[in-house]
Amino acid sequence: MNHKILIVEDERPVREMIRFALERTGFEAQEATDGRQALAMVTDNTPDLILLDWMLPDLSGIELARRFKKDDHTRDIPIIILTARAEEDDKIVGLDAGADDYVTKPFSPRELIARIKAVIRRSSATASGEPITHKGLSLDPESHRVLAKDDSVEIGPTEFRLLQFFMSHPERVYSRGQLLDRVWGSNVYIEERTVDVHIRRLRKCLAPYGYDHFIQTVHSVGYRFSSQG
Ligand code: CA
Repeated sequence: MNHKILIVEDERPVREMIRFALERTGFEAQEATDGRQALAMVTDNTPDLILLDWMLPDLSGIELARRFKKDDHTRDIPIIILTARAEEDDKIVGLDAGADDYVTKPFSPRELIARIKAVIRRSSATASGEPITHKGLSLDPESHRVLAKDDSVEIGPTEFRLLQFFMSHPERVYSRGQLLDRVWGSNVYIEERTVDVHIRRLRKCLAPYGYDHFIQTVHSVGYRFSSQG
């Protein structure tokens, strides 16, 4: 498997350090020095993952992440944001913009490669229908079963699809509209309140096993699946 990784970073020494680490691991590295170049490159040659520097000369990494996630052709490409900022608030902004993970500079090449592998593993598992597991909660797309540790969870078809979407996109906030679009499909006309109903049902399914707190309400934004904290 020769995964293509696009590095979007304006600082040449950092870019070269990353390229070296990627190639040594067997990844194929592509480089862009700013947002505009990154947008053009992604259209021509779709990468398997994007490493996005937060501070770029033209568009910020966050703005770029938002653009990639809005576009049907690029929304499923995993994104890792690189940043010198370590504040928790910035991390939340990054993840809300659609980033899959977040690496704070300075980082070791080894740490970066480990994070890249983890994100790729997660996204290819989703694509191939392999079970997805977060802290003992496991969802098997093939058998349509949800296991909490070893107990089988009773779950309706809509709640199953909702949970599958959440577990494949952990730590990101989705608005009700986005959830309708991604889980129900954009051609279906359903009121946004319907999402709340199914969220409530999903929490009820998970509550006996203590997993209901994984489905989090983000005030005035929407919902998020999080197994952290
Ligand atoms: Ca930079």
